[in-house]
Amino acid sequence: MSSLPSNAAGLRTAVFPGSFDPMTTGHESIVRRALPLFDRLVVAIGVNQTKRYMFPLEQRLAWLKETFADEPKVEALSFEGLTADLCGRLGARYIVRGLRNSTDHGAERSIALMNHALRGVETIFLPALPEHAHISSTIVRELLANKADVSAFVPAAVRP
Ligand code: ADP
Repeated sequence: MSSLPSNAAGLRTAVFPGSFDPMTTGHESIVRRALPLFDRLVVAIGVNQTKRYMFPLEQRLAWLKETFADEPKVEALSFEGLTADLCGRLGARYIVRGLRNSTDHGAERSIALMNHALRGVETIFLPALPEHAHISSTIVRELLANKADVSAFVPAAVRP
């Protein structure tokens, strides 16, 4: 059976980058569905100094760590700079991204081709499940700002 090639250390490592502000059940689903493909899945919070976030980095990291405490193959960390450079540092040959709709697809395609051009990193896309396709961190933030109940859209660790 053919499988995804591993890196020099013999591990198939992938990076799942995002802002996770906050993490949603859509993010959790992508991680759990991608896991069987890889030996190690690094969920990486990209830090952009010019961007304002609703939740502090430490809080977003803690939510990821708690949610995947049961998955030894999952790590959570934060990084600055290019995702392709993070992949180089980690020995990751794959990036995982979720696609909710054609808007996601249009934007992600260019980024994926650039990461391939920069470092030969392949992007593996997983389609959002129908029950998650309407969930985004942006909408969850909007709901929170208006004191709405978000418990159906975020993992248990994130629930107030
Ligand atoms: P970014 O700011 O990089 O888009 P996000 O935290 O919003 O970071 O998303 C990280 C990744 O998770 C992206 O690939 C995004 O498409 C995916 N994603 C976000 N929400 C969902 C969802 N509801 N279902 C599936 N994938 C999702």
